[in-house]
Amino acid sequence: MSISENIAAIRQQIALAAERSGRTAADITLVGASKMNDAAACREAIAAGIDALGENRVQEMTQKLAEDAYAGAPLHFIGHLQRNKVKQVVGKAALIQSVGSVALLDEIEKTAEKLSLVQDILLEVNIGGEEAKSGFAPEELEAAARYAKTLSHVQVLGLMTIPPVENEPQGNLPFFAKMKALYVDINQNIYDNKLKYLSMGMSGDYAEAIEAGSNMVRVGTAIFGARNYSK
Ligand SMILES: *Cc1c(COP(=O)(O)O)cnc(C)c1O
Repeated sequence: MSISENIAAIRQQIALAAERSGRTAADITLVGASKMNDAAACREAIAAGIDALGENRVQEMTQKLAEDAYAGAPLHFIGHLQRNKVKQVVGKAALIQSVGSVALLDEIEKTAEKLSLVQDILLEVNIGGEEAKSGFAPEELEAAARYAKTLSHVQVLGLMTIPPVENEPQGNLPFFAKMKALYVDINQNIYDNKLKYLSMGMSGDYAEAIEAGSNMVRVGTAIFGARNYSK
């Protein structure tokens, strides 16, 4: 199957999942997670109507930007972002999805101020409480959101999560439900219901995530095929 056939098939599944949760396909943003796929693959996904492309690694993103890989679609940063690489991402990515610490918020604010721009971001939540994963703990989220609101060069558009890897089907449903509840809470209590995105769901579980309330899914393998880690 080609990238465009894969995207068309995923769009159909997205439409069904959206309908099952009282929405339509147009309510769901499909982000292509294009890590380890080259500029030609990115262009193919854009030609097939992907809503955005998301990159994980700053070096790879910078190289593909130089190759004009993302022309025609917004670029998102979705990977772990180190503070010393913030300068290479602020103003380049339309949305930084993976902001999971106050130190990173501060660094983005400082960099965006220097560039006289406002950087759109999502707050990343470590919903499974995993030791090795970045993101705010659920109980830290409200304070982080209130703090982010005081920053004038950072605009929070929503929440993002990468739940624990589950081997059982439906295994992530409790995490998706917890995220949805957090989103509704924060949106009401802090953002006057102006948040736009709840980013959760990947190749294996995007339909379940949408049914649980996600409106932004990040899909890699199901679009681009298995990643070749030996290259
Ligand atoms: C790679 C990646 C995805 C997509 O994963 P697939 O299982 O290949 O769909 C989604 N989100 C993030 C943050 C990723 O790094």
